[in-house]
Amino acid sequence: MKIGVYPGTFDPITNGHIDIIKRSKNLFDKLYVVIPNNTNKQPLFSLEERLNLLKEVLADEEFVEVTTTDLLTVDFAKSVDATAMLRGLRMVSDFEYELQMATMNKCLNDEIETVFIMSSHEYSFLSSSSVKEIAKFGGDYSSFVPEVVRLAVENKIKK
Ligand code: ADP
Repeated sequence: MKIGVYPGTFDPITNGHIDIIKRSKNLFDKLYVVIPNNTNKQPLFSLEERLNLLKEVLADEEFVEVTTTDLLTVDFAKSVDATAMLRGLRMVSDFEYELQMATMNKCLNDEIETVFIMSSHEYSFLSSSSVKEIAKFGGDYSSFVPEVVRLAVENKIKK
């Protein structure tokens, strides 16, 4: 059984993330979508809120398990017997950061590979940050996120 781990901040999950997850079905029998609890970022949504949105949006994906971790992602991957970590690549600008992370993770655990899926062209410009930015200025981002995510963002922004 091929086990993968897709780590991310998911603040919030977008259709770009979902596209990567669905397309990884051909690569993995089981995929852990995991939010590390050690991020230096200041997310809009709490860890619990992000976890609940992931669970709701991915409920129909039977090969997916959603969770959080206090471990380094390579250590989490090892703890669930994963052979690879999954990341999405959009523009060339993602490459430098992703190469650095993949190389560092390879140094930390040589047995776990990082595999990349290139973003579908319709999502190659889409990020969680752009969704939050559009929302703050009252723009229409309904085609970029599932409806439950849009409602959660609207509620958060109102507060
Ligand atoms: P992180 O803070 O770890 O980068 P993100 O939630 O921003 O977490 O992203 C998680 C992964 O999903 C990263 O590999 C990122 O490049 C990828 N990703 C984000 N948005 C998209 C998208 N629109 N298309 C494809 N991959 C994406």
